[in-house]
Amino acid sequence: MLYRLKKAGYESYLVGGGVRDLLLGGKPKDFDIATDALPEQIKSLFGNSRIIGRRFKLVHVRFGREIIEVATFRSHHEQAETDEQGMMEDGLIIRDNVYGTLEEDAFRRDFTVNALYYNIADFSVIDYTQGMVDLKNRTLRMIGKTEVRLQEDPVRMLRAIRFAAKLGFHLEDSLKNEIQTQGERLDMVPAARLFDEILKLFMSGHAAQTFQLLMEFNLFPHLFLQTHDCMKGNNEYVQEFVLQGLVNTDKRIAEEKPVTPAFLFAVLLWPAVARHKASLLDSGLSPLQSLLVAGRDIISEQIPQVAIPKRFRQMMIDIWVFQARLEQRRGKRPVRLVTHPRFRAAYDFMLLRNQAGENIQELCDWWTHFQEANEGERHLMCKAQGGKKKHRRTRPGKNTSPDT
Ligand code: ATP
Ligand code: MG
Repeated sequence: MLYRLKKAGYESYLVGGGVRDLLLGGKPKDFDIATDALPEQIKSLFGNSRIIGRRFKLVHVRFGREIIEVATFRSHHEQAETDEQGMMEDGLIIRDNVYGTLEEDAFRRDFTVNALYYNIADFSVIDYTQGMVDLKNRTLRMIGKTEVRLQEDPVRMLRAIRFAAKLGFHLEDSLKNEIQTQGERLDMVPAARLFDEILKLFMSGHAAQTFQLLMEFNLFPHLFLQTHDCMKGNNEYVQEFVLQGLVNTDKRIAEEKPVTPAFLFAVLLWPAVARHKASLLDSGLSPLQSLLVAGRDIISEQIPQVAIPKRFRQMMIDIWVFQARLEQRRGKRPVRLVTHPRFRAAYDFMLLRNQAGENIQELCDWWTHFQEANEGERHLMCKAQGGKKKHRRTRPGKNTSPDT
């Protein structure tokens, strides 16, 4: 792609995570290209491409399974402050689709190590911001004045945490200090953008470390206020549960197993659901109903903060409600449950609750065994749970089954 752009008479460079990760000896997740060609010009050069624009106008070029992002050089908003394209409000960039030179493009980027340009004309790396020094010292440093750059776009705080976790870099002092005082600014970020960013934070294989940094820098409450409220009063189970869930997610990603955002969000919000469920149970709802109502309430409360798309919400609720259904082990129910499309996720979720210290080892073992058992054994297992309720009522006080 770089050569095709060059042949057509444009300047073009590999930039961002692609260059950074290659220089660090890692495997880039994706590639970004910066060029002086305009979006329409880029599009006309590549068949499999389309112009997209959420915050900026970019061109996505598909290469088999990969999508390469090609962006025209942009300048920093300051040059365009009076221009309607770069309007500002309380220091926040509303739109910054103002084209610029290569040098301007470098200075509008977030961190110095993300502003290195690989040049195919002479195989050199162009470095306007001392990014190579920071790369060697494994330092994440904001380009320009940290305070201002974080005000412009508070998501840069989350990006700092993400790169620190992923690369094992340390945050330069002003970055550390500013994140500690500017966390509240995340509340101004649109909920849909926070959802996208959370997926990047927790689905890139370093979720556990990311969570610990988010806690350390007090950013977690600005993403999951309800969960954070449950951590108050030294509630170790809550932190342990979330951490274990993220450790498992990292493991699955390392093993190249699929991870769904629904399971992830079910983990992240479970402490709040469980707490709310307890109060609904007290008010007389059944375990199943309390989970259903609690799940819906907690999701509704979360949506204004982080916009979880509709398609994931039902699966989250299913996973939660399943936690009550897994307790019902009599009769024919278990045979039906085990073939349910949500069973696997719900079972994994139950194991996680156990792992985090909930006292449900017997229940977990039972379901583990049940899945491996043949038809006859399954029948006996359910029978050992005490048979049907009606039958139990005929022998009050004599029931010695372990069913509780
Ligand atoms: P990775 O793709 O590994 O997550 P990346 O650094 O490539 O990391 P992208 O989100 O792909 O991150 O963005 C590509 C580049 O665009 C970044 O390296 C950075 O130079 C610039 N960039 C992205 N988001 C911002 C932002 N919010 N503010 C300033 N520059 C940004
Ligand atoms: Mg990238």
